[in-house]
Amino acid sequence: MVLTQINTQSLNELFKKTRLNNQLTSSEMAERLKISLTTLSKIENGLRQVDAETLLRLMHLFNISPSLQEMEDSNKTSLPMYTNDQYVEKTLNQINKIMQRFPKLREEPFKGNPLKEMVVDELPVLITKAFFLDENDYKITGSIGKGQFAEVPWLCVFLKDITKSATKGYYIVFLFSTDGQSVYMSLNQGWTFFHEKYGTKVARKKIQVAAQNLKGELLLNENEWITGPIDLQAHGILAKGYEAGNIFAKKYYFNELPSITQFKEDFYTLLQSYNEINLLRGKRSVDEFTESLLLLEDGLFFDVDEDEDFNLNVQKELTNLDEEADMNQENDAKKARQPVIQKGGKPKYTRRVKVAAAALKKAHYKCALDENHTTFTNKSSGKPYVEAHHLIHMSTQGNFEYELDCLENIASLCPTCHRLLHHGADHEKEQCIEALYDKMVNGLSNKKIYLPLPELKKLYQMDN
Ligand SMILES: [Zn+2]
Ligand SMILES: [Zn+2]
Repeated sequence: MVLTQINTQSLNELFKKTRLNNQLTSSEMAERLKISLTTLSKIENGLRQVDAETLLRLMHLFNISPSLQEMEDSNKTSLPMYTNDQYVEKTLNQINKIMQRFPKLREEPFKGNPLKEMVVDELPVLITKAFFLDENDYKITGSIGKGQFAEVPWLCVFLKDITKSATKGYYIVFLFSTDGQSVYMSLNQGWTFFHEKYGTKVARKKIQVAAQNLKGELLLNENEWITGPIDLQAHGILAKGYEAGNIFAKKYYFNELPSITQFKEDFYTLLQSYNEINLLRGKRSVDEFTESLLLLEDGLFFDVDEDEDFNLNVQKELTNLDEEADMNQENDAKKARQPVIQKGGKPKYTRRVKVAAAALKKAHYKCALDENHTTFTNKSSGKPYVEAHHLIHMSTQGNFEYELDCLENIASLCPTCHRLLHHGADHEKEQCIEALYDKMVNGLSNKKIYLPLPELKKLYQMDN
């Protein structure tokens, strides 16, 4: 009954994975299954349906069982989910043994320490066999440190498409707490990437924001999974990074490990989410994907999409405008910043909240079209309310060598004039654009940004 629900493609894959995991040649495998080499090859390549007898023989020979979740809803799951329960049990026992022994073993010399065998040599093999992890797709690595003990021993499952190293990207990791009392199975992120980019203090905040934003996309049940920072009883910068980087985790305790069934379900659920990250990433590099998760946190907004949001955040930024970090100092023309790459591979340029806020300050919160235009007092900043508008749209940055997101290209406008520029009738809009152009053209050319007036008008969808 169960077999009919399993999709056939994953069945075919199962034959190949089982053979590779058991390090058998095709002829050895064919012999065990009592089928011809040609039949096996056709099955492995999806050219032939698997008959029930052969499938049962495979499952029997290699102790394979379909996971519970697969049986419950084969439609929802896209990954083939099979386990070798003997090895699932061995994996759990090994994890328990590591928790029991490593706090003591860590006191002994690093060289020749039995902990290496348990974490680095044995555990990766057990987990690979337990879940039929295909070594073409996954890299499984255990670590206890290099030359000396790391604070937290770990075992990583890397999806090779995403990363092959714990320093960057996303991965599933088993992290042993330093007291040997628990282990977390965590969907986590490479701390080093954040650390190098932002420095320790800011990185700890940013990595949590990335986790938070990614969590929202992955839709695991928050009642069943631990989100936010985990507690490894650790003190080092690196281990603190693992704690902060958690996206989803399960915590298992020494001598109270989950049942085989529960562990299988937990691991496959996490593995599925991990694979979903790759789909979300699309054509972007992993770094580009991570940057897109941090856009708002970094005070970056896309052009056009979020004009309201953008100005709301500019107003907030006015309250933290730091006199010393004033953008007025930026006198030279700057080369354009790199765009953020969209899921489909398309570049998009961003505007910075900080720069816009500095532009409003520089304009003394007055409307660029007429200083006497009335406005009101902004509740959050206590300043006259004006909005930031990029005269030359950021979406055209691709046509310019130099940065468009600069003070010289940002007009401070009263709300009425700003709305007029976006929604006004052509003849009224035209007057405003001409006036702004006259006022701003010199500043723009100082920043090596050149655009004739007729071209500017085209950007505003006007004909002449
Ligand atoms: Zn605008
Ligand atoms: Zn105005």
